[in-house]
Amino acid sequence: MRNVSIVNVDRGAPSLAQRTYLIPIIKGLAVTLRHFLRNLFGQRDVATIQYPEVKREYSERLRGRHILTTKDDGSLRCVACYMCETACPADCIHIEAEEDPDATVEWEKRPLVYEIDLLRCVFCGYCVDACPKEAIIMSRQHEMAFDARDQAIVGIEQLKQKKPIEEEDIGYRPYF
Ligand code: SF4
Ligand code: SF4
Repeated sequence: MRNVSIVNVDRGAPSLAQRTYLIPIIKGLAVTLRHFLRNLFGQRDVATIQYPEVKREYSERLRGRHILTTKDDGSLRCVACYMCETACPADCIHIEAEEDPDATVEWEKRPLVYEIDLLRCVFCGYCVDACPKEAIIMSRQHEMAFDARDQAIVGIEQLKQKKPIEEEDIGYRPYF
C-alpha cells in the first residue's frame, strides 16, 4: 500500500481585490466596452449581420424544410414504402398509402397522405438518407413561423416540388 502525505500550502490571506473579484470584473467590462465601441463605429469584422435585411449564404447541404420530388409528368416519385417514416427518430412523418392506378407495375403504391410535423422534426435528414427513390430531399428553407400547431403539419401540397429541381433552393441530398 502506498503512503500518501498531505501538504498544507500557506498562500497567505487574499487581498481586497481578490476578495471582491474586482480585477476580473474590470477586465470583463473592458472587453465589453471594447466590443461596444467597435460595433458602434461600424468596424468591418463585426460578426453580426443586419438580419432580416441581410441574409447569410448557407451551405448547399443545409438541412431545411423538405421537398417531395416529382417525375417529369408531375406525379410524386414517392412509392409510399414507409422507409422514411420508419427511420424518423422524431416520429413526425405520417404516411397513408394507396394503390397507384397509373402504375405500370402491379401493386405499386403512392402516398394518399404524406404529412410531416415540422414542430417535431429535428431536421436530421435520416428520412432523406433512408429513401430509396430520392423522393424526399431537403431544401435550404429554414425560416418557418407558425401561429398554431396545426399549421406546422404540412402535407403533399405544401411539400411537393413546385419548380424544376435545378430552380428549387436545394439543400441536403445524400448523393450530391
Ligand atoms: S429530418 Fe429527421 S426528424 Fe425530420 S422528418 Fe426527417 S427523419 Fe424525421
Ligand atoms: S419518401 Fe421515399 S422513403 Fe418515404 S415513403 Fe416515399 S419512397 Fe419511401
